Formats: sequence, C-alpha cells, structure tokens
Amino acid sequence: MQEVLDTPIEFLKGVGPQRAELLRSELNIATFGDLLQHFPFRYVDRSRFHSVKELNEEMPQAQLRGTLGALRTVGEKQGRRLVATLTDATGSVELVWFKGVRWLQASLKPGQEYILFGKPNAFNGRINFPHPELELAASWEQGLNATLQPVYNTTQKLTAKGLGSPAIWKLQKTLVAQLTGQLSETLSPDLVDWLAGVSREEAYRQVHAPQDQARLDSAVRRLKFEELFFIQLQLLEQKRLLQEQVRGNVFAQVGQYFNSFYKDHLPFELTGAQKRVVKEIRKDMGSGRQMNRLVQGDVGSGKTLVGLLSMLIALDNGFQSALMAPTEILAQQHFATLSRFLEGMPIVVRSLTGSTKAAERKSILTALRLGEVHLVVGTHALLEDRVVFQRLGLVVIDEQHRFGVAQRARLWKKSEVAPHVLVMTATPIPRTLAMTLYGDLDTSVIDELPPGRRPIRTVHRSDHARNAVFGFLEEEIAKGRQVYVVYPLIEEGDPAKMQGLELKDLTDGFESLSRRFPLPKYALSMVHGRMDQATKDYEMARFKKGETNILVATTVIEVGVDVPNASVMVIENSERFGLSQLHQLRGRVGRGAEQSFCILMTGDKLGNDARARIETMVRTNDGFEIAEVDLRLRGPGDLMGTQQSGLPELHIADLVADAALLQQARQVAIRSLDQDPGLRDPRHAPIARALAERTRGKPVWGRIS
Ligand code: ADP
Ligand code: MG
Repeated sequence: MQEVLDTPIEFLKGVGPQRAELLRSELNIATFGDLLQHFPFRYVDRSRFHSVKELNEEMPQAQLRGTLGALRTVGEKQGRRLVATLTDATGSVELVWFKGVRWLQASLKPGQEYILFGKPNAFNGRINFPHPELELAASWEQGLNATLQPVYNTTQKLTAKGLGSPAIWKLQKTLVAQLTGQLSETLSPDLVDWLAGVSREEAYRQVHAPQDQARLDSAVRRLKFEELFFIQLQLLEQKRLLQEQVRGNVFAQVGQYFNSFYKDHLPFELTGAQKRVVKEIRKDMGSGRQMNRLVQGDVGSGKTLVGLLSMLIALDNGFQSALMAPTEILAQQHFATLSRFLEGMPIVVRSLTGSTKAAERKSILTALRLGEVHLVVGTHALLEDRVVFQRLGLVVIDEQHRFGVAQRARLWKKSEVAPHVLVMTATPIPRTLAMTLYGDLDTSVIDELPPGRRPIRTVHRSDHARNAVFGFLEEEIAKGRQVYVVYPLIEEGDPAKMQGLELKDLTDGFESLSRRFPLPKYALSMVHGRMDQATKDYEMARFKKGETNILVATTVIEVGVDVPNASVMVIENSERFGLSQLHQLRGRVGRGAEQSFCILMTGDKLGNDARARIETMVRTNDGFEIAEVDLRLRGPGDLMGTQQSGLPELHIADLVADAALLQQARQVAIRSLDQDPGLRDPRHAPIARALAERTRGKPVWGRIS
C-alpha cells in the first residue's frame, strides 16, 4: 500500500495513542490502511423517519426526529440512570442511559431538536429507547449524514471505551475526508470504466459513507473486484516466475515399464478421466519445467492408479519416485496396492514409515541412496534428512491437505533438480476456492468413477431405530458382506488429547455390538488411534482378509482405506462430523460391485447445520456438490483442507457470494498477463505498481508445493 495508508492510526484526528493501542489489540487496526479496510458488515437504512405513534417493540430499530426534554437522574447505586424524553408531533418516548451519565449530561442539549436512532423497547406499556444514538438535527443536516448508515464490527471492550460502531464510523468519515486526493488508482482506466467508473478513492468514500444504494453497490463491486483481482495476479505471476526460473527434469519418453504395465498388468481399462489426467501429467513432465499439479478426484475415482502410472513414467526415464500418504494405515495400504499391481514386474517397491524397524530402515535408506529402490511409499518419515535418493524425479502426495507447506519444501531439497510434484486430494474443493488456494498450481479433475459402481444409498436413522439397523446389518452379513461402524473421535493421532469419554463411546459400542453379533457366528475387529501400530495393523488385516464381519473404528479409517467387500458404513453420532469427513467415510464403501449403504445415526435433536449436513449426505453422492454446501455452511476458513494452505485474507469479497466476480477477476488477470507479461504497458502502470507493493518482500518460493 502507499505511504499515506501506512500512517499509524494514532495520527488520525480523534484517535491518539490510547485509542490506537485499543484498536490495534482489539481489531488489528494499526494504520490508516487497516482502518479503511475495516469494512461495514451491514448498512442500516436511515432514509425513513418514524413517528412516535407508530413505534412498537417488534421493530428492530427506529429513527425519530423530535425535541429533547429535560434530563433527570433517577434511582440509586446500581439502578442509577439518566432519563429524558423525546417528543414529536404524535407523542413522546422515554430515553434511558445506564452508562456515561456524566458525559451525557454535559453534552446533551435539552430543548433542541435531535435525530434519534435505536431499538424501541416496551416497558410498562410505554415505549422507551435504552442507549439511543442522538445527533443534533442541525449538525446531522450538515454532516456526511448518509441515509445508509454503515455498521462496523467492534468489541465490547472498544464499545465500553467509546469506540462502538458509530464512533468507528466517525473515524472512517474523518479518514475518508483526509485522504481526498491522496489515494492513487490501482486499476487501469479501462477496468475502472468497466467497474462503472468508480475510482479507488470514490469506492472507499461510498463504502464508508454511501450516498445511495446504487452508488454503494458499484463501490462494493469495485473493491471486491480489486481484492480478488490482485490475489489472482499474484498467484499467476508466481506461477509464471516458477515456470521461468525452475528447471524440471525432462521425462521425454514413455518406455518399457509404463507400456508393459499398461498392456499386461492393468486389470481394467482406465476411465476417460484417468486417461486425460495421465496425459496432462505426461505433458507436464516432458516440458522441461517442474510439474506442480493438483489432481482432484472424488473418493474412489482411481487416483492411486494415476499416481502409479506417473511413477512408471519417471522410472522409464531413469528416476525414482516417492509416494507420501498422511497416515501409516494409508501408506501401508498404498504399499500393498502398488506391490499387487506391479507383481511380476522388475520394479522394487519399499515402504518407509515411522514404524519401520531399524534394521530394515537402514537397508531401505542404503538402497534408496544407491538407486536400488525404484518406488518408495511412506509417511512423513520420508521427509527426514537421512532419507537420501540417488535420483528423485517425482513426488506424489496423497491427500495433500495433511501436509504443510514447510514439509513439502523439505522434499524439494532432496534432489538437485526439483522433482515433479503431483498432489492428489479426495477432498473436492469448490471451484472458487480452488482458484484462490491453488491458483498457482495446475489442476486436473478426475470427474468420472470407474464403470459398474452403484451409487451408495444413504439413509438417516435416529438412535431409536437401532434395532432395525442391527437387523439390516445381520442380513448384509448373511450375504457375505462386511460392515464398518464408525465413532467420532476428536484429536485422532494425539492420544494424550483423546477424551476418555469418546473412547468409552467406542468401547461401549463395541461391546454392545459384540453381544448382538456374538462369537463364534460373528467376528468383530476394533481399530482406534490409541492402539499401538501392531495391534492396529493386525485388526485391519483381519478385516481386509474377511476374517471379521464388522470393523468398529474411529476416523482412522477415514482416508483411503480400500476393502471392496465392505458394503455398509454405519456412522454413529454422525451429527458430530463435518460434511467432508462424512463424505470421506462414506467413500470407504461402494468400492465393489454390490449395492452399498451408508447409515447416518443421530440423536433426536439436531441443530440446523447438523440437519443440513445430514440432508445433503442423503441427497447426493457428488463430492463437489457436498464441498459447495460445506463452504456455505462453514465459510472458507474452516473448510477441511484450507486451514494450513494459506488462504489469503479477504476483507470485502466472499468466496461463496462472489464466485462469479472471482471468475471474472481471474479471467481479466490471465488476459492482462497474456497480453502484457511484465505489465509494462503504460495503461497497466497502476496495476504493476500496486502489484509490486503487494509482493514487496515476499519470496517467490513462499507457497511452493
Ligand atoms: P481414490 O481416488 O479414492 O484414491 P482408489 O485409487 O483407491 O481411489 O481407487 C478405488 C478403487 O477403484 C480401487 O479398488 C481401484 O483399484 C479401482 N479402480 C481404479 N481405477 C479403475 C478403473 N479404471 N476401472 C475399475 N476400477 C478402478
Ligand atoms: Mg486414494
């Protein structure tokens, strides 16, 4: 931002050091620019005046014009308050203040005409106004008295210190007036034209002191566009720099490994979407630039295979690959899957996780260094410095959101030329969010499931229906199917934080299921995060082999676990799960040819959001649609997968409500950079300047994958 906006807030008239400190600690407002970007969250329409006669207590707020009567203090101690009346042609109302009495007595002028704004209350059959806003009609008529009055976020502490919303508004008006003629334009003339001709300065003025609704709307649109546009420019510019500056190994050929696997080992035809994505990946890896590609694909869309095919291309070009998974269970499963797929091929696959025994680890590390291992599958253990590759060419990261940026950067250091990076996620992200979060990556979508899958049937059952549900499980098991029963457990993977109560839910559930499905006719397994790895593995293996009928588990089975014979997923206390988690869990079934079911158990009472989540799950199997609903319910910041991925802070735009504008902003950004890569055209000068300001001091490598 420009210098004037960097001015410390204490230098604004009406602020000073004490208030500045409060604004900083309470609202993170430290500069003029911060205040300006503290946008109203709504506007109150003050174009209409009410008469005393028409007031009632249902009204959320009312505006009166009348004469202030005498001020009186009544009551004692705690009950002490200041009262007055306001009278218009139709009657009078009582005004009451419990705080700030002395100051009010000194500043209010009985007998004068005032504009009152506040919430009408009824007391003893009379309307009164507790703590109304009052402004002298004379000064109101002169001031920047918007008929649309902005309402600002503030805090209790600030309000108590006289910095409630009206006071913040006053500061905004002071600031906007002071900045007149000082705010430089950040968009090109044709963009300003396209945005209804609203200049930057005008936009801020209208947002903080709107003249009318139409001008306010244009101003808001301009500011939202600007915010989204610069985020996109930054992402695209970052991507361009990466492509320019970072070399990538050229995987020029598709050779023996890939072809023989494709011809002789692949047990099924690839889906059209898989073929398309593999082609995109091949193109990236042959380009001489480093690949940074995100593959989004719903649960069960066959991402593992896409990863494997990419690794075979690396191998055909003489490079090793690593596949990283977020959990031990998933890493082991990937290892088993890859080993099975590659059976009979001269390819060495090893797995390296936290629980790999020391001797084995040593041999794997040596083999990796010597290039004797072609593919390695593992968890975070792969990031350790002692893991050295002979020639690492490709890193496939499964379930990307579980890996932090810093961790990914560590992988980066493992070879001379940056390895190609393929990130796979089964947590579909709404398009708008993906554009913002991953705007600097290339993305592919596997939007097709392998043929022959039957859509999972999802139902909602209350705890009362438990017996019927058990009866249903019995029938399915009699048909040879297997069942998951999942309990919510928070803080999985951190046993110290696991709450005893929740573990009790799980073990109680296990016991009651054991009574209903007793040995020797039935067998049950149980898996939870507090178990040691060996027990977990043993229990999982029994279920996978079909030795047990029911797996009682926590969300350790959430990601990626693949047991095609399991056809029923029962989720206990499903109201306590987030949408994407429910969708992930449901994705554990429906992997075979049989009809699969997901049964969402809940208590009787459901909050609105919980009900919306359950209804969404019952209505659709489409992960992208579910992600959209999730975004609506929770907002972008809390969406799974976004917490640590560096979502830029938005002051005015909203990724849900402004999806169309975001799309436009991205297109305009792409077009501008295509036409004028360095933004050197004089028309683009304001944009180039603003962009340079924004990226000042930020490393190009900041968000590398
Ligand atoms: P996800 O995308 O959730 O990681 P997986 O890679 O685990 O999905 O694949 C899900 C299942 O579908 C696996 O059993 C896999 O072998 C199978 N599969 C993958 N691609 C195909 C295909 N083209 N045709 C049939 N089955 C496939
Ligand atoms: Mg997977």
